Amino acid sequence: MTHQAVAPGDPALDHSTKMMLDTVRDVAAGRVAPGVIERDREERFDRGLVRELGQLDLLGGIVPTEYGGTGLSHVAFSALLQEMSRTDHLMGLVMSFPSGLAGAGLLQYGSEEQKQEFLPRLCRGELIFSAGVTEPGSGTGVADMQTTCRREGDHYVIDGAKTWISLIDVCDYVLTFATLDRSGGRGAVCAFLVPRDTPGLTLRPFKNKLGFRGVATGEVFLEGVTVPAANRVGEEGQGYGVAMAAVETGRLGVASRALGLAQDCLDRSTAYARERIVQGQEIGRYQLVQSMVTDMVVGIDGARAMTYDYAAKRDEGLRARREASLAKMHASDVAMSAATAAVQIHGAYGTHEEYHVARHFRDAKVFQIVEGQNQLHRSMVAEYALGYRGAA
Ligand SMILES: Cc1cc2nc3c(=O)[nH]c(=O)nc-3n(C[C@H](O)[C@H](O)[C@H](O)COP(=O)(O)OP(=O)(O)OC[C@H]3O[C@@H](n4cnc5c(N)ncnc54)[C@H](O)[C@@H]3O)c2cc1C
Repeated sequence: MTHQAVAPGDPALDHSTKMMLDTVRDVAAGRVAPGVIERDREERFDRGLVRELGQLDLLGGIVPTEYGGTGLSHVAFSALLQEMSRTDHLMGLVMSFPSGLAGAGLLQYGSEEQKQEFLPRLCRGELIFSAGVTEPGSGTGVADMQTTCRREGDHYVIDGAKTWISLIDVCDYVLTFATLDRSGGRGAVCAFLVPRDTPGLTLRPFKNKLGFRGVATGEVFLEGVTVPAANRVGEEGQGYGVAMAAVETGRLGVASRALGLAQDCLDRSTAYARERIVQGQEIGRYQLVQSMVTDMVVGIDGARAMTYDYAAKRDEGLRARREASLAKMHASDVAMSAATAAVQIHGAYGTHEEYHVARHFRDAKVFQIVEGQNQLHRSMVAEYALGYRGAA
């Protein structure tokens, strides 16, 4: 098998990562690309693809091998997500879930039994978790959650509602969060794994959202939902930490996926600019088109450097919250501007789904909102610079 050059700015990747990149390219071209427009149009998720990715060992990410994962470095993990996301970042989401929103909190706070029971099956694509943090009244302010839990003997009873929760049409469990005391702030939050068929749990997907249409997102209602105490992840009061563990690895996933999307915008735009003739010359010869291409290249190279910097710091064992904000915010802003330019360069064709950049344009907007909206990250970056926050 020949190795294609990795994208500019990619760190030196080891042989096994390059082999995995080849596998990702093959499966992206052969299995993921063919249905990507239809899945988006029909708002349809292909669970069979998840199993296929699991069989190819592409879901194991940074999860240690003792728990059925691949034990990748964060840098290699990011490279694989970028590669898949050039074709379909929602399959990048699927690849990131066992390491991020579904698995990171479990890995850091879960009991040994929970890790042994759930992580290998997540990595094989046999199980899907939704991660239910956001509530109707608290998106950015996670600690303001109104969903409550109370202990009754060896069970907990959970009441409340979550919204904008992804994968709810296909999930087997909802990893969700509730507070023991609404005035207790972060220290009162607990995390629970709630099986999909638990009485009192209702899942209601939204239809017709702007982007990320190939993954159902919607509401979760919890009315007197009763789960065994063994389903609590972490100790009482560690739920906020579980959520942050998930979100912080999730930010590497979002940055990597946004980069893959931006790279596809650049690749499609340069190819189109070389073939589209307007007034006797390739549009790539027009300096104003070149200017858009230059902005894409500068943005992508910069965002890729920030993303790998964050990944490398995570590999050193650092939490690197400042770098997480920089990478997530900048990569998603670059994706939005690259997708805007890509539609422009494609002219009228850019507005048609067959050219892919229209989908990228819709999805890029969502990247600026999820995993902490970008105004939050913008504030955090400034607060680190001003010394109002200490770099952890
Ligand atoms: C497609 C999709 C999938 C999602 N999947 C999940 C999921 O799987 N699990 C989950 O838990 N959540 C999920 N979410 C929810 C997402 O994480 C939240 O939408 C996000 O955290 C923002 O919360 P909010 O929408 O309540 O915005 P709000 O908190 O209401 O903020 C609205 C706007 O106000 C401004 N703002 C808010 N706070 C500040 C501030 N401190 N400084 C400056 N400006 C500010 C920003 O412009 C922000 O965009 C998903 C959302 C979408 C769109």
